[in-house]
Amino acid sequence: MLGVKPDNGDTSYLPGQYASLGIGYWEKRIDNADDPEAEKRWDKLIRRSYSISSRIFDDYGYLTDENGLDELEFYIVLVPPTSDNIPALTPRLALKKTGDRIYLGPKVAGRYTLNDVQNPKAEIVFFSTGTGEAPHNGMIIDLLRKGHTGPIISAVTVRQNADLGYADKHRELEERYPNYHYVPMPTREEGVPKRYLQDLLRDNDFSEKLGVTLSPETSHVFLCGNPAMIGSPEAIDGKQVFPETVGVVELLVNEGFTLDRRNAPGNIHFEEYW
Ligand SMILES: Cc1cc2nc3c(=O)[nH]c(=O)nc-3n(C[C@H](O)[C@H](O)[C@H](O)COP(=O)(O)OP(=O)(O)OC[C@H]3O[C@@H](n4cnc5c(N)ncnc54)[C@H](O)[C@@H]3O)c2cc1C
Repeated sequence: MLGVKPDNGDTSYLPGQYASLGIGYWEKRIDNADDPEAEKRWDKLIRRSYSISSRIFDDYGYLTDENGLDELEFYIVLVPPTSDNIPALTPRLALKKTGDRIYLGPKVAGRYTLNDVQNPKAEIVFFSTGTGEAPHNGMIIDLLRKGHTGPIISAVTVRQNADLGYADKHRELEERYPNYHYVPMPTREEGVPKRYLQDLLRDNDFSEKLGVTLSPETSHVFLCGNPAMIGSPEAIDGKQVFPETVGVVELLVNEGFTLDRRNAPGNIHFEEYW
């Protein structure tokens, strides 16, 4: 978790939106990876998009009022170098300490928001991988603050339980709001069978374990993080072609859900992190 105080004090955003953070190529990195860009671009800024997260509770234990805060919260994972990619920003960000300055873009952006959720009784599902939970934290709080009475479910896959940055807060939310359910799914935790978010839909977990029936008429599903989990289709010769590995979008489309597009509102909303 990282708090960034904008110089101009403007922390307004719609839950779900993202901002841009930047760090110079000239800055030190935490790993010893040999960054091929660093020499060529040493005086340039590395910029990446980051969803705005939420600390969920304020100092008194109430749900946060994001508009009253003087900083934006981010939830960012350190990306390790691999044989085909030397990450640029996160290994430099990892060395930042309280009080250091970093670049924050002047505008927040994104249409991955709750704009289309108009029915307070609707079933709202959030699926994320890892730090894909970030935008959902603020969206969940927004729904709860507005008195949403329909079921709200947030399911997230991580490698291990220790990777769940906000788990205790989600458990506290579950205690306070009977319509809220948190479903963490570690894939590399001893004794826990490996399951993917797609399996929750295939195995009817929602109706059988949570008693919640999803339907294209009333439900909205929000997907954020790894593009393979999302599995958004490509338009080829006017047809929607889904990726080989079946993602959540394909399973939902088969059930009658539709993708939310700029000029055609739908009930599947997604934000891909790469
Ligand atoms: C709209 C949007 C919002 C985003 N919000 C977040 C956020 O809230 N938190 C966050 O951690 N990242 C977020 N990202 C990803 C972020 O922009 C960077 O891509 C990421 O931090 C890696 O940057 P880098 O320069 O260190 O690595 P890069 O050199 O840019 O490496 C990119 C590679 O890193 C891996 N990667 C990128 N993001 C992640 C991730 N979150 N988890 C695991 N592997 C990853 C992928 O393999 C990707 O191909 C978001 C991306 C977009 C487009």
